[in-house]
Amino acid sequence: MAKAPEAARFSLFDKEEEVLRSAALMLAQLGDIGGTVSDLAEAYRQSYREQERLVRLSDRMQRDLQKAKARLAEQASDLLALNETLAAEIELRGRLELELRSMLETDALTGARSRRHFYDLTAAEFARQQRNGAALSLAILDLDRFKRLNDAHGHEAGDAALRAFAGCCQQMIRGFDVFGRLGGEEFGLLLPETGLEEARAVAERICAATAALEVPLAQGQSIRISVSIGFATRAPGETLEQLMRRADRGLYQAKDQGRGRAVADQAAAG
Ligand code: GH3
Ligand code: MG
Ligand code: MG
Repeated sequence: MAKAPEAARFSLFDKEEEVLRSAALMLAQLGDIGGTVSDLAEAYRQSYREQERLVRLSDRMQRDLQKAKARLAEQASDLLALNETLAAEIELRGRLELELRSMLETDALTGARSRRHFYDLTAAEFARQQRNGAALSLAILDLDRFKRLNDAHGHEAGDAALRAFAGCCQQMIRGFDVFGRLGGEEFGLLLPETGLEEARAVAERICAATAALEVPLAQGQSIRISVSIGFATRAPGETLEQLMRRADRGLYQAKDQGRGRAVADQAAAG
């Protein structure tokens, strides 16, 4: 019987101990939780700072990209402008080159081929004829008494006569014939695929058309001109110089026989 209250005291003591132990345990756990909460808070702050940093970084990147885009747009428009300038420059150079070539190839006063271009084209035609064996004729045309015309009517009238004569010849020849001003009042006419008799017909037609020309002068006046022509057909293997010399011989005879006519050099015609 005496043991019962003792046992009860014990048990009460045990209870208190247990409560105290569990309270201590809870406190310890609370301490742990507190640590975890502060860890969490720190982690949260860290991630917030990280996010902030990322947002700032992203903003800066956006600004840099905008700047780069603007710079690129500027550069693109600069390039476009440069491209246009270059294209215009190239076109201008092309035009100048064409003009220059045309100046070199064309006689400024008459529009006939320049002497040099005439010889270039003639040399090429000679090589071509060597291959295909077709007939080839050459004529030298010299205006008659041109010095007298200049003296009587002035140099400008002489120039007008040269232009009128050249224009007349250009109209009478085929596209592949070559008509050039050799110098002064002397012209050359190369007639590809043309034998002696056809060349004669062409030369005589030119003489007649020249004689029929009325070269207009100032104050309603006009003058008449005439031309002498020597021509020859290329003999096999004949050089340009040899053929020119023979055509020139024909011209000399045409002058000698009274001018205003066409004479073939017969020496190697047969
Ligand atoms: P021929 O009938 O024998 O050919 O006599 P020509 O007077 O025509 O021959 P000549 O060679 O004595 O004289 C040629 C003249 O052509 C002399 C020169 O003043 C003139 N002449 C040469 N080039 C030009 C030119 O570009 N314009 C003008 N107006 N005259 C020129
Ligand atoms: Mg003359
Ligand atoms: Mg002459």
